[in-house]
Amino acid sequence: MEMEGTKTHYEVIVIGAGVAGIYQIKLLADRGIDATVLDAAGDLGGTWYWNRYPGARFDSESYTYGYSFSKELLNEWHWKERFSSQPENLRYLNVVADKFGLRKYMQFNCKVEAAHFDEAQDLWRLKISDGRELTARFIVMAVGLLSIPTLPRLKGRDQFKGLSFHTFSWPHEPVDLKGKKVAVIGTGATGIQVIADIADKVAHLTVFQRRPNWSAPLHNGPISDEEMADIRRRYEEIFTTCSRTPGGFEHEPDRRGFYEVSREERVKLWDKLYDMPGFAIWLRNFREIFTDEKANAEFSEYIADRIRRRVKDQKIAEKLIPKDHGFGVQRVPMETNYFEVYNRDNVELVDITETPITEITETGLRTADRYFEFDIIVYATGFDAITGAFDHIDIRGLGGQKLRDLWAEGPTTFLGFMVHGSPNFFMPSGPQSGSASTNFPRGIETGVNWCTKLMDYMWAHGYTRANATEEAQQSWTDHVKKMYSVMLMRKAKSWFTGYNSNIEGHEYGKTRYFVYNGGQPKFLSQIAEVANNSYKGIDFNSGSLLAGLKAEDAARAGK
Ligand SMILES: Cc1cc2nc3c(=O)[nH]c(=O)nc-3n(C[C@H](O)[C@H](O)[C@H](O)COP(=O)(O)OP(=O)(O)OC[C@H]3O[C@@H](n4cnc5c(N)ncnc54)[C@H](O)[C@@H]3O)c2cc1C
Repeated sequence: MEMEGTKTHYEVIVIGAGVAGIYQIKLLADRGIDATVLDAAGDLGGTWYWNRYPGARFDSESYTYGYSFSKELLNEWHWKERFSSQPENLRYLNVVADKFGLRKYMQFNCKVEAAHFDEAQDLWRLKISDGRELTARFIVMAVGLLSIPTLPRLKGRDQFKGLSFHTFSWPHEPVDLKGKKVAVIGTGATGIQVIADIADKVAHLTVFQRRPNWSAPLHNGPISDEEMADIRRRYEEIFTTCSRTPGGFEHEPDRRGFYEVSREERVKLWDKLYDMPGFAIWLRNFREIFTDEKANAEFSEYIADRIRRRVKDQKIAEKLIPKDHGFGVQRVPMETNYFEVYNRDNVELVDITETPITEITETGLRTADRYFEFDIIVYATGFDAITGAFDHIDIRGLGGQKLRDLWAEGPTTFLGFMVHGSPNFFMPSGPQSGSASTNFPRGIETGVNWCTKLMDYMWAHGYTRANATEEAQQSWTDHVKKMYSVMLMRKAKSWFTGYNSNIEGHEYGKTRYFVYNGGQPKFLSQIAEVANNSYKGIDFNSGSLLAGLKAEDAARAGK
C-alpha cells in the first residue's frame, strides 16, 4: 500500500471537508472507491470549523440540518438546542466522521491551487499548496458557497496594532472581550449574531452600519430529552416535509392569497409568526411577499413597526429599518435580542453611509467626521459568495478553458452540478443548484447522491468522461434566470444576486444568477428526470474513443 503523502493518484478527489465533503467521502468509502478529501483548513467541519465568532449558530432547526442518511446516527445524536451553536455543530460533524471512520480519508492544510483537465487521459491534475501534484479521474467540488471571506477595501487596514479579524477567522483560542473597546463593521447575518452576543461582554461596542438588514427573532431554546425522543420518532416525516417544501425546511407557505384575506387576518398571521421559531416569519408567510411589491411593502411596514417598538430611541430605530429593500428578498438574518442591544449605554451605532470610514489607523479608525479608538476590530463583512471558492482555484477544462473566465459575468451550469467543458467535475452544491436557496444540508445530500449515482453509472458503463452539453447548460441557465424574473429578490443587493461592493465586478446592477429559485420539489423532479433518462444532457465517452475526442477537443479549442 502506498504511504499517505506519497500516493499521487485517486479515482476521486473531494475538495472540502464540510457537510458536503464528509457525506461525499462516506458514500465513496461505502463503495470501496479509492478517494481522498483535501481541505485548506486544519481540520474537518468547513463552515463550522472556520466561523467561531460568539453567537455563531444555525438558523435552520438543528434537527432539519443534520444528515438524514443514517437511522443509527439519527437515533444516537441529541440536538441540545433548537438552533444549535457552532461548537456543538463542529462536534456533531466530528462525531459523524469518527462514527463512520472517515477521518482516515482526509488530508488537511492542503489548499488546492490549480486543477487542469488532462484531455489525453481523462483525468484532473491538481496542484496543492504543499507542493504536491495529484491526479484524479473525478473531482468533487465540495468547496462551499460561503467559504471565502471578504474584507472591506479600507486604507490602512494592516496598520491596526490591536486585534483585528474577519468573523470567519475568529481565533481558536478565547478572545478576552472584558473591558475592551470593540468595533464591529457590518450588520449582515453574521454581524447581527456577533453584535447581539458580545454587547454585554465588552466595555464599549461601536457598530458601523452601511445598510441595515431586516431581521426577526430566532426564538432559540433547549431541546429536552422528551422532545428529542419525539423528534426521533418523527424524523422520517420531518425529512419528507423538508423535501416537499420550497425551502427544504419544515416551514410551508400559507396557501391563502394575500389579497383574499382581510388586513386583520393578515396581521393575525404575522403576530403568530413573529412569535414562532426560525424562518417561520419568512417561509410560512403569504407567497406574495416574494413576488408582489405592494404585499411586500405592507409586510415590511409591519416588521418596521416591531423594530420601532423594541428600540427606545426612535432616531436609532429608523436607522435600523431598511429603506432600500423589502423584508425577505434576501436570506433573512435571525436574531436574539439584537434590537435591544441599541438600548444599552455601552453601544453606539454609526451610519457609515452618512459618515464613511476613511481609514484604519494603528489605534482605531477614522470616519468622515470622527476618530475612534479600539482594542479590537471585527470585520463582519461577508463572503465572496457562491462562486468565490471556485474563482480562487485556477480551474481549466477542455482546450484550457478557464472557469474563472467562463464565469466572469456569472455562473452558467447544468443543474448546478456540472459545467460544459469541464468534464468529470462535479459540484454537489454548486451555483444554480438547489442548495443555496434552501436549508443547505437538504440540498447537499440531494446533490451528493445525484453526483455519486452519476459516477456509479459511469463506472458501470466503463465511461471515462462525462461532459454536460452546451445546449443542456444553456437551457438550465435560462431556466434559472427566468425564475429570477418573477422574484422581488432579483433587485436585492445581496449574495443571491452576486452583489458585494468589496469585490471588483460584483457591483450593483450586474446581476449574477447564483441560486435556483424554483423550490426543492421542482429541483428534485428535474434532476431525477435527467438521471432517469440515461443522463440526458450529458455526453459520455470511454477511453477507446479518446482518439476521436482529442480531435473534437482540438477543434473546440480552435473555435
Ligand atoms: C456563519 C454561518 C452560518 C450558517 N448557518 C446556516 C444554517 O443555519 N442553515 C443552513 O442551511 N446553512 C447555513 N450556512 C451555510 C453553510 O455554509 C452550509 O450550511 C454548509 O455548512 C455548507 O457546507 P459545505 O460542505 O458545502 O461547505 P463548507 O462548510 O463551506 O466547506 C467547504 C470547505 O472547503 C474548503 N475549501 C474551499 N476551497 C478550497 C481549496 N481551494 N482547497 C482546499 N479546500 C478548500 C474550505 O476550507 C471549507 O472547509 C451558514 C453559513 C455561515 C457562514
